Amino acid sequence: MAQDIIFDLIEDEKERQLNGIELIASENFVSENVMRAMGSVLTNKYAEGYPGKRYYGGCEVVDQIETIAIDRIKALFNAEYANVQPHSGSQANAAVYLACLKPGDKILGFDLSHGGHLTHGSPVNFSGMTYQTSFYGVDKETGRIDYEAMAETARAEKPQLIICGASAYSRDIDYAKFREVADEVGALLLADVSHPAGLIARGILNDPMPHCHIVTTTTHKTLRGPRGGVIMMGKDFENPWGAKTPKGEVKMMSQILNAAVFPGTQGGPLEHVIGAKAVAFEEALSDGYMEYIIQVVKNSKALAEALVAKGYDIVSGGTDNHCMLIDLRNKGISGKQAENALVLAEITCNKNMVPFDDKSPFVTSGIRLGTAAVTTRGLVEGDMQTVADLIDEVLMNIDNEEIIETVADKVNDFMADRPLFQMN
Ligand code: PLP
Repeated sequence: MAQDIIFDLIEDEKERQLNGIELIASENFVSENVMRAMGSVLTNKYAEGYPGKRYYGGCEVVDQIETIAIDRIKALFNAEYANVQPHSGSQANAAVYLACLKPGDKILGFDLSHGGHLTHGSPVNFSGMTYQTSFYGVDKETGRIDYEAMAETARAEKPQLIICGASAYSRDIDYAKFREVADEVGALLLADVSHPAGLIARGILNDPMPHCHIVTTTTHKTLRGPRGGVIMMGKDFENPWGAKTPKGEVKMMSQILNAAVFPGTQGGPLEHVIGAKAVAFEEALSDGYMEYIIQVVKNSKALAEALVAKGYDIVSGGTDNHCMLIDLRNKGISGKQAENALVLAEITCNKNMVPFDDKSPFVTSGIRLGTAAVTTRGLVEGDMQTVADLIDEVLMNIDNEEIIETVADKVNDFMADRPLFQMN
């Protein structure tokens, strides 16, 4: 029987991943063990409900797996509560909104064009369609979140929910300041730490857990797990609306969040992905991961410095985390042109709006780069100069396909003999 073409295409994708320099800030390479759990018989199991309280028989084993995943992520983030069932970061946020808001309620989020995520109130997303939105952004001069303007908008709008966290913001976040404002206006505070989750878990960045009512994350970015989402709370609390259980007891937020995931927004959990999450969480608790995540930040800072030295304009002037936004307006190149040319050279990144962008989201004035994936492949600070040189050679010869092809050869040589995943 002929092999299904899908397996040939998977090999092609593996080659692409092996040959290129992966700088998409939201991507990473998972370990063989994470992959093993994901491609296991756990995918065969239906397990609607939660450990010990399922709507299907035969859940004794997956109950243990899901409980281990919950315990590990709680240990990783010092959280009292975790739900590991959300299929993605967007699903995690959808469940939080269902738990905390009614249609038409107000949310205050980080402007998408300043670094926020679609699910933080964009008009093309369910969050912007279902709730009344307002936004905060960054200061034009510093490129950092304008906390004063955020507080003023919160006072004027009185949102029920404030969302902090970002998809393209290279600086740390002052969660205590956000909480002060949330308390002042009577809002709940959600931190979506999808991007810097691994850095937060290992204490490199500020910890949202003591300040934010609820914390969501994806599991596949700096956390280096399978694609998925998680909802956490540093401390469970009585729901502020006085909702009661059938027995007349006040419902805890954990009960409301669990119900918002299942049956609120999802059906059967992906137990193969939950198993893979558990494996990745154990890896993230290890000394090897600690070395890895420290290296991610060293690489990010080194890459930003090398690019600044070549005259590139990094929003906010540098980075505290794994990513950076490059404003290409001073180079006369659009984000779309840069992304396309870099892809030809097998350097993968994504075009991205920059704050106060004058171009559309399909063109953009910038690109976003991140070092989580290349660090998994074993690159260190000294390699970042080479990466910056290769990027610069492409962008300075953006219309010269011949030169770009020679850069692709250099990229392939540079990445040869580096496995997709190197355990530190
Ligand atoms: N939240 C933030 C801050 C993100 O950056 C992302 C993904 O890029 C998400 C949520 C959504 O995650 P997913 O793509 O898993 O739905």
